[in-house]
Amino acid sequence: MLNGVMSINKNQCCGCGACESICPKDAITLKVDEEGFYYPSIDEEKCVLCNLCKESCGFLNKEVDNNLDIKPPCFLLKHKDENVLKESRSGGAFVAFSDVVLKNGGVVYGCIMDEDFNVLHTRAEDETGRNKMCKSKYVKSDTKYQKIFKQVEKDLEENRMVLFSGTACQAGGLVSYLKAKKVNISNLFTLDIICHGCPSPKIFKSYIRYLEKKFKGKISDYEFRDKSMAGWEGNVETAVVGGKKRKIHYWNKLFLSDLALMPACYNCKYKSVNRISDITIGDAWGVKKAAPGFYDKNGVSICLIHTEKGKKLFDLIKESCFILEHPLCGPLLQKHLYQSAKPQKSREEFWETYYDGGIEKLIKKYATDNLLSKAKKKMKNILKKIGLSRKGK
Ligand SMILES: Cc1cc2nc3c(=O)[nH]c(=O)nc-3n(C[C@H](O)[C@H](O)[C@H](O)COP(=O)(O)OP(=O)(O)OC[C@H]3O[C@@H](n4cnc5c(N)ncnc54)[C@H](O)[C@@H]3O)c2cc1C
Repeated sequence: MLNGVMSINKNQCCGCGACESICPKDAITLKVDEEGFYYPSIDEEKCVLCNLCKESCGFLNKEVDNNLDIKPPCFLLKHKDENVLKESRSGGAFVAFSDVVLKNGGVVYGCIMDEDFNVLHTRAEDETGRNKMCKSKYVKSDTKYQKIFKQVEKDLEENRMVLFSGTACQAGGLVSYLKAKKVNISNLFTLDIICHGCPSPKIFKSYIRYLEKKFKGKISDYEFRDKSMAGWEGNVETAVVGGKKRKIHYWNKLFLSDLALMPACYNCKYKSVNRISDITIGDAWGVKKAAPGFYDKNGVSICLIHTEKGKKLFDLIKESCFILEHPLCGPLLQKHLYQSAKPQKSREEFWETYYDGGIEKLIKKYATDNLLSKAKKKMKNILKKIGLSRKGK
């Protein structure tokens, strides 16, 4: 705190914009930093020390919950409609839940990627708008651009049923904001995704420009993980340039390197099996071992129910999905549920490489296979083919 004014700690801020939205004096503005992440900037002249920003901050008001003993009810789930499975990242849980809300005249909030490759949260009242939210965009999503929290507040005040989907920190920020504004949240359903961590939108935009230069044309479509090329478990990205689909793999490498994540992702207060949201969904990694009969090459979702409200919504998707209850243990208990991404010693060097040599240098250094890793990959594939691989996946 600076003389009572909220101070900003980048390790404790997900840039959700709750503080900016609640400030009665417009003293807070979210500003983009050199890494491309948004953080609040406070005009101390305008600040009247009302403390609403602190009250509405999801991070400040959240205690870490490391308890792995009390686990929520856990289900494996896949949508019955094969097209939905193919058009979703995992098993189509999001479509099943959001369909219920839309059919009841409700509103759905979630993350889209627009035609300029901006990753942002938006609002939908019909299937067309909702379908743009399907599939994971492995980039930090912007909730500020369309003033999402204020839109949710307005919908709730008009007694609409609302489903908010996003990362746990975004759902936490929204709930904290609405509580600070004393909004009735009985019609709000929050659905968070299991989140490894969110990479920089600035690097992603540079990456898209890099691909356009490499493929000598405008990208008309891009998929972070294209199921049609490599199934649910594959890590193949695709970009369509001049009507031709190109296979690539650089973004997945940058994402999984944990070097481009938002600083708060290394210290995520929301990592826990017991979440702030009503429902958590994710990829059911481990299904092959936990329940082999339920495996589907097009994807399976894991679904955790945290509240009575969540259970009510869950009961309404039973018609549209195949569902199997399974304890949250063994191969289903993936570490990304309860453990933050590991801080990387080379993160500083990663960013220096970017400032110094741009995306080209970054890709060369961090996302291109050298001879040794190519040989290792080849060997792994051979072992997998002859059934000697240690990992099932
Ligand atoms: C950055 C990121 C990291 C992830 N890490 C993991 C992980 O470690 N383990 C795991 O099991 N699952 C992870 N997921 C979640 C998983 O990939 C699926 O998004 C989830 O299972 C939903 O799949 P679905 O088939 O039900 O729905 P889909 O129809 O594919 O729905 C996508 C849902 O994800 C939301 N969404 C998409 N992109 C973003 C974004 N950038 N920010 C916030 N919300 C977004 C949409 O609003 C929608 O609710 C991650 C997703 C993202 C975006």
